[in-house]
Amino acid sequence: MTKRAYNFNAGPAALPLEVLQQAQEEFVDFRGIGMSIMEISHRSKEYEQVNDESQSLVKELLGVPDGYQVLFLQGGASTQFAMIPMNFLKPGTAAGYVLTGSWADKAAKEAKGFGEIYVAASGEASGFRAIPAPGDIEVRPDAAYVHITSNETIAGSQYAAYPDTGSVPLIGDLSSDIMCRPIDVSKFDFIYAGAQKNLGPSGVTVVIARDELLQASPKHVPTMLRYDTHAKSKSLYNTPPVYSVYIVNLVLKWIKSHGGLEAMERMNRDKTKLIYDAIDGSGGFYRGLVEPGSRSIMNITFALGSEELEKRFIQESEKQGFVGLKGHRDVGHLRASTYNAVPYESCKALADFMNDFRQRNG
Ligand SMILES: *Cc1c(COP(=O)(O)O)cnc(C)c1O
Repeated sequence: MTKRAYNFNAGPAALPLEVLQQAQEEFVDFRGIGMSIMEISHRSKEYEQVNDESQSLVKELLGVPDGYQVLFLQGGASTQFAMIPMNFLKPGTAAGYVLTGSWADKAAKEAKGFGEIYVAASGEASGFRAIPAPGDIEVRPDAAYVHITSNETIAGSQYAAYPDTGSVPLIGDLSSDIMCRPIDVSKFDFIYAGAQKNLGPSGVTVVIARDELLQASPKHVPTMLRYDTHAKSKSLYNTPPVYSVYIVNLVLKWIKSHGGLEAMERMNRDKTKLIYDAIDGSGGFYRGLVEPGSRSIMNITFALGSEELEKRFIQESEKQGFVGLKGHRDVGHLRASTYNAVPYESCKALADFMNDFRQRNG
C-alpha cells in the first residue's frame, strides 16, 4: 500500500482511492476491449454507455425530477459564467446576482459584459462572513434569472437553505458542493458545477437544466456556446473529455455504493465537526472566518493570531503529511477543503494536529 497524503486541496482535489484503483485496473484494457477508454471513438457503444449511465446517475443521486436534462460540457465553471448570460440574458431584462464572495463576483463581472445585471443581495459589508438570508434576496418579477453561488470555495461559506424565486429562474453555481448533501433540484432551473472539486477530475462541467431553458439559444451565440447544441446531441456534439467523464462515472458509482447523498452529508458533517470543534474549543487561538450559520461543510476557513504563526502551522503540517492547508491568495489565512472523497481519518488527523499545535504554541 502506498502512503496517501492527508489531502485538503481546494481543487483539483482528493479523489476516492477506490476510484483511482479501479481506473488503474482498467487503464490499459477497458472492460475487455483491448484498448483504453481514451483510444476509442466517443460514438462507440462503450463510450455511449459511460455517457448515458453517468447522466442517469446524476439524475438518480440528486433526485432530478422529470423535465430536466444533464449535460457534460467543457471550459470549466468559468465558461458557464459567460454562457449563462449569452444564452439567457435577453435585451430589456436584467439578471440578479447574489454576491457572496470571489466566485459570485466573477460570475457577475462576466455577465456585465453581456447585458444588465443588478445586485440581488451582497455580503460584502460584512466581509463575506455570512450568506444573505433567503428573504433578503431581491427577486425582481421581470428578472431574466437570479444567480447564486451555493458554496463559496474561497471564503468558506455555504447556503444552509436556498431562496425561493417563484417564477424567476434560479441558477446555481454548485461547483464546490454538488452532491455533498441532498438538495431539492426543483428549486433550481439551472445548476452547473466544474467536476474537479466533488465529482472527479478537471475537464468536464456538469449542467442540470430545465428542458425549457435548453430549447432555443439566441441566434448570434456561437455553436459551442449554445445550450441547445449540447442538449440536442446528448453532450456528444463534438469530442467530449472522455477520460474526465469516465472518472466522474466511477465517482458517481462510488457515491451510490456508499449510501448516496444522505450518507455523504452525514459523513461531511461528522468530518467537519471535528475541525470546527477544534476551532471553537480553542479559546480564540483559532478563529473561524465565517459565521456559524453560514459555515461550509466543504471548505473550512480559519485564522491564527499572526501571520508568523500561520506560516509555522503550514510548515509543520506539511512535515506531518498534510497538503493544501494554505488559504487562497485572495483571503490568506488557512483553509481545509473536506470534499466527499476526503476520508474521516484525514479530518481526525487534522483536528488532532490542530489541538497539538495549539498546546505547543498557545
Ligand atoms: C472552482 C470554482 C469555479 C471555477 O471553476 P473552473 O472549472 O476552474 O472554471 C467556479 N465557481 C466555484 C464556486 C468554484 O469553486
